[in-house]
Amino acid sequence: MQPAWSQLGLHVIAKPIGPICNLSCAYCYYLGKESLYSRQESWRMSDETLRAFVRQYIEAQPETVDEIDFAFQGGEPTLMGIDFFRRVIALQREYARAGLRVHNSLQTNGVLLDDAWCEFLAEHHFLLGLSLDGPVNLHDKYRRDREDRGTFDRVTRSMRRLFRHGVDFNVLTCVHRHNADHGVRVYRFLRDSGIEFVQFIPIVERRSTASSVAPPAEAQEAQEDLEDLVSERSVRPAQFGRFLIAAFDEWLRHDVGRVFVRDFDQALAAWSGLGASLCVYTPHCGRATALEHNGDLYACDHFVDFEHRLGNIHRTPIRELAYSARQEQFGLDKEATLPEVCRRCRYLFACHGACPKDRFVQTSDGRRGLHYLCEGYKMFFEHVDPWMQAMAAELAAGRPAAGVMHRRRAEEQRARENAAAAGPVRRNAPCPCGSGRKFKNCCMRP
Ligand code: SF4
Ligand code: SF4
Repeated sequence: MQPAWSQLGLHVIAKPIGPICNLSCAYCYYLGKESLYSRQESWRMSDETLRAFVRQYIEAQPETVDEIDFAFQGGEPTLMGIDFFRRVIALQREYARAGLRVHNSLQTNGVLLDDAWCEFLAEHHFLLGLSLDGPVNLHDKYRRDREDRGTFDRVTRSMRRLFRHGVDFNVLTCVHRHNADHGVRVYRFLRDSGIEFVQFIPIVERRSTASSVAPPAEAQEAQEDLEDLVSERSVRPAQFGRFLIAAFDEWLRHDVGRVFVRDFDQALAAWSGLGASLCVYTPHCGRATALEHNGDLYACDHFVDFEHRLGNIHRTPIRELAYSARQEQFGLDKEATLPEVCRRCRYLFACHGACPKDRFVQTSDGRRGLHYLCEGYKMFFEHVDPWMQAMAAELAAGRPAAGVMHRRRAEEQRARENAAAAGPVRRNAPCPCGSGRKFKNCCMRP
């Protein structure tokens, strides 16, 4: 008998070309997965594996589920060519039961998207995720090709092509040490480029030297230096908090209901009492597995390693692997391993300790398990609290959340008038609108 959680449906992220990519982005967490397989590996999902995947993934969905999303990632999935995805569509038509709506999504660096690709994606209603880290100097810092050239021009050319062909897409922006001090600039760039859906992904690269076991008692006394635990590209915790706050304030002023930022939506769902849907912000996880090109299924896209390999779909069906007791435990561990400081945190309802992948910071009792970005998350939650409450109240009253924008602007106007009455504001003084930024970087700017 299947466990109760098997009634919830599951999600598989497919990697049809494994970690192979045409770029060489400095912070990519997936390029290193080549070491899991032999050097002779072809790295291309065979037709046999694709067929098994499509059939089993559909069969694994409970009868109550009437929508299914096929998500393709890499590496760079467009390296498989359009014909591979034509085959995906054909197999989905062959196996989808009556009434099941099938969606496709594809995460790409965008470099290979020509008109033929865009026509195909538009015709079959693919939802695209395009990786873009902000304006040229912020994007090109780490998103480079194999010849060490920046990719901004090629990615933005593809973005314009996507717009022209009417392809549905959102932007995935990695937040790293180089762009994280520019939250407003990054957000404005994306919005002014016409992007309506944005996901911010913090880059946290743990140094391999950081131990996962508790340090010796004498070392526990000393506060550990977080800089020692991560790479120099990783966003700093407070920096991440400031980034989210800066983007949020800009969004709150102008774009509520018009631009959708995943972290803001998730927070609003939590404050509205609905609960977040993104695994990072839910109490448990484990319902999103990752499928490698050869049919190996892993517990999560961020745990593609020997220890978290559930099995291979040519030997055991997806349904059995994904609904196994072992995978259920993986998901439950997210809550079971929460440190005490999270259990007592007033923002637990919105954060739930965030993703276990990055819970490697030592707490005051000397145990590892606190999320590396905790300080940033707390800053963000504290800052948005009154606004989330206000938006949740608007929604509960049957009004659009965008109503809070008027309140925000009115407050800023009042603050400016008060400040003007008190005398001129110095360039480097805190902005009277209360944003927390310097006047010269905030309302003084046109
Ligand atoms: S904000 Fe920090 S302490 Fe609070 S739940 Fe999140 S990670 Fe835990
Ligand atoms: S480990 Fe992190 S990314 Fe993976 S399912 Fe859990 S919360 Fe999501």
